[in-house]
Amino acid sequence: MTALVDEIRQIIASEGPMSLERYMAIALTHPEHGYYMNRDPFGAEGDFTTAPEISQMFGELLGLWAAEVWFRLGAPERINLVELGPGRGTLMLDALRAARVVSGLHDALDVHLIEASPALRNMQNEKLAEYLDMIQWHDSIEHLPEGPIIVIANEFFDALPACQYVKAEDGWHERMIGEDGDGKLHFGLAPDPQPLIQARAKKGTVLEVSFAAHDTMRTLASRIVEQTGALVAIDYGHMATGPSETLQAIRKHAMTDPLAEPGEADITMHVDFAHLARAARAAGAEVSGPIIQADFLMSLGLFERAAGLKKNADVRQAMEIDRSLLRLVGTGQEKGAGDKLVPSMGALFKVIGVSTADLGILPGFESKPGQTP
Ligand code: SAH
Repeated sequence: MTALVDEIRQIIASEGPMSLERYMAIALTHPEHGYYMNRDPFGAEGDFTTAPEISQMFGELLGLWAAEVWFRLGAPERINLVELGPGRGTLMLDALRAARVVSGLHDALDVHLIEASPALRNMQNEKLAEYLDMIQWHDSIEHLPEGPIIVIANEFFDALPACQYVKAEDGWHERMIGEDGDGKLHFGLAPDPQPLIQARAKKGTVLEVSFAAHDTMRTLASRIVEQTGALVAIDYGHMATGPSETLQAIRKHAMTDPLAEPGEADITMHVDFAHLARAARAAGAEVSGPIIQADFLMSLGLFERAAGLKKNADVRQAMEIDRSLLRLVGTGQEKGAGDKLVPSMGALFKVIGVSTADLGILPGFESKPGQTP
């Protein structure tokens, strides 16, 4: 049993069943035992692999994306480049290297990393050692300084806590977590329906709502409207709001029971991109996309960058580049960590852009603008 199971059981004993939202927040970011707080979850040795860990091209293209946005903003003398949940710091390292070729940009950059985990902050600090004079860390977006912002978020929104509601005869009941006296955590439903959720659906239908994702997007979009800037978010998710049951826990690249080992497994829910788009529009911002990751990366020049890298690569390196290309933009299954078959990211991952209207359709989204249903 994990240390967190005990703590969660105590809370339930004194306060009654807890919402899935609260459970997820505790399991992921409890200051002492939260999943992200004291480990490196990424890569073949860890629990899951993210796009920047698959290929340097991912971070490089996002660095050039940020450079193009900076130009469109009129190349301001100071610009806040913000990354939400930077993981190992790999994306930012590749982005900053790529941005070096853009004259004047490095001198204008103030980099802000929003990171809850002390362990990952340490890794980011080591990885980005050559750039420390331009970097500041923050616990939350509330602490960002004034001024224009360019925000990058890869696999951040899916780690934010979310609620599930289950349709019954008398309405939508929130999914709760309780303990039946057997020491184990169990799913249950709140006895009364949640009056704010009103939608027709068959009995047993599940809806997932992340208020934290909505609030984060709305806050950043308001900032962008007031002080200019742009945001790009990339995540596992769906284009349209609808019934979905995507809560999952991953440990060592395999699915596990989300209630069995809080603090030891990554727990996520797919991101509802239509919900994010509504949050951004409600703040008065313009939305680009959502589109699938494959379209976004290809439109930013992924294949051209791969061809450039292959010019200086030996045969083994060239094969590695092709393999990572397939994982980033393929739509089938490719070999992942330990040669296990994993679904490629090309269509499973979606990308959304947020800006003020005068910036136009953001870079990477031009081919398929405005797909929000
Ligand atoms: N962007 C990275 C890592 C994705 S994992 C990559 O693509 O590889 C999610 C990241 O968000 C981790 O760095 C995690 O510690 C951070 N994180 C999760 N919840 C957070 C929260 N509520 N506030 C700040 N950071 C958070």
